[in-house]
Amino acid sequence: MTSYQFDESNIQPYFKGLSHTQLVEIVSHFHNKDLTLSKIIENYNLGQATFAQFLKLLPPLLLSDKSCAECVVLPLIRHIKRGKLSGAFCPSCEKVVLSDVEVHKKFFPESSHKNKKSKTKQLSSIKIISISKAKYESLDIDVKLFLHYLIDKGISKDYTVINGKNLSTDVLVPNVRYQEYLMTTLGAEGYYPHEVNINIDPEIAHWYFKSGTLFPFHLDEKFVLWRKIAVQEVVEIFFGTLESKGLITDQGAAVVPIMEDLIRIYSVGQLINLVWQSFNSWYNKYLKKSSDKMHIANMIIYTCQNRGEYKKQRCQKVLCYDRPETYPQSELSKYLFNDVLKIGDKGFTKIPCPSELYSNPNIVVQSRTITFN
Ligand SMILES: [Zn+2]
Repeated sequence: MTSYQFDESNIQPYFKGLSHTQLVEIVSHFHNKDLTLSKIIENYNLGQATFAQFLKLLPPLLLSDKSCAECVVLPLIRHIKRGKLSGAFCPSCEKVVLSDVEVHKKFFPESSHKNKKSKTKQLSSIKIISISKAKYESLDIDVKLFLHYLIDKGISKDYTVINGKNLSTDVLVPNVRYQEYLMTTLGAEGYYPHEVNINIDPEIAHWYFKSGTLFPFHLDEKFVLWRKIAVQEVVEIFFGTLESKGLITDQGAAVVPIMEDLIRIYSVGQLINLVWQSFNSWYNKYLKKSSDKMHIANMIIYTCQNRGEYKKQRCQKVLCYDRPETYPQSELSKYLFNDVLKIGDKGFTKIPCPSELYSNPNIVVQSRTITFN
């Protein structure tokens, strides 16, 4: 195994508690592509992270045998994507000390010679799945939406393959748990979207591009989508807030149904307010008493539920919060609210409501869902 050195004083809390050897293993698995990112996260007991987040969290490598001639500091190497490192640059004057080609030779010597072994490795790092028309028809509406997004961004010119490599590694889906559900339903459990190539019946893509509307489904079904994606956005912020403070919940499964109830009376922005209020009221108690972390996490979700119902009964106003900067809108959410529903920020600030869609002049009302043939 290639050995890596890091600036030990500058390792993210995300990797806290891991030994140097474990960190080297993680970086090796990441670049050798012999484990999926989900498996790496599971094996090393790391927190949930999207691909883009994980890439940012990985500690830069140190080039230990050649320092910057002027500044006499050790150059840093960044992780660009799986199997790709940046050149080594001086952190002080930013001069490139070693080119990315040289860095690649140094850290991945095996893949420089094109032997059979590295070829099979490369092949197995891309998962190939197939979607037939029958499989497509059987999918839930939100999985169809996700697939339409993938077609829109990644389909080959002949409409036969969705190329994972064409997809952005930004946040594609509101939260990691939901992404896992979508990928598993499509048949690619444990893989990230850009690690998968999808062989798709070309009729599906033809139909998609010819229907003249991005999501040729009835407005009632589009309304269901609004609710589903809105719930996943709140869930993302709920778990993200807890996990960033090292809190875990054994009531994880209860979070979605509770938010599904609350989204009937509150917008995403209002629910973020409720999550924050509940979090703050319990987190302060936790700091004072340092009660059991699991207990606090469970109290937060039930407080959210009670507070939401209490305020509704008394007709108390709940202010709509902005989207927190640390949770940028996912690509799937932008696709749904901007391109498919054409309601933009209302997807975030309004309580999901069919009349919002029916009265929208930008949206084509379909009397029925279009099907193949
Ligand atoms: Zn320098």
